[in-house]
Amino acid sequence: MNYYQPREITKDGKPTGLFHYTCRNGDRIWPVGLCADDCPGHATEQEARDHWRLYLIQGIEFTPITQEWPKEKCESEGCNEQATMTGCTKNEPGVFNHRKFCSKHATPEEMAKFIDAGDSISSY
Ligand SMILES: [Zn+2]
Ligand SMILES: [Zn+2]
Repeated sequence: MNYYQPREITKDGKPTGLFHYTCRNGDRIWPVGLCADDCPGHATEQEARDHWRLYLIQGIEFTPITQEWPKEKCESEGCNEQATMTGCTKNEPGVFNHRKFCSKHATPEEMAKFIDAGDSISSY
């Protein structure tokens, strides 16, 4: 199991006051997403979460729904159109559920409303 959450960066065993968004599996911990990419760390856990969220948003992509049944509604708030596209993030697909949208709402902006950067667990 992979456990995702912000963690304080330590240097030579000492806390640094800076946070990365990280993944832990057993005894191993490593920075993930944009934090893995030369990120100097963040002053707060929230900023580390926001960095992770940005990474998920950058990976948003949509695929057409090809199955005929069941017909499902667009998940955008207040929309009653039939969903024609599935949205997911190709960055870390295991941590985020797919969402379904009509053709009008199949946009990264709409999908981003469903992405929060809370702690998560994935079996990937
Ligand atoms: Zn970062
Ligand atoms: Zn819609």
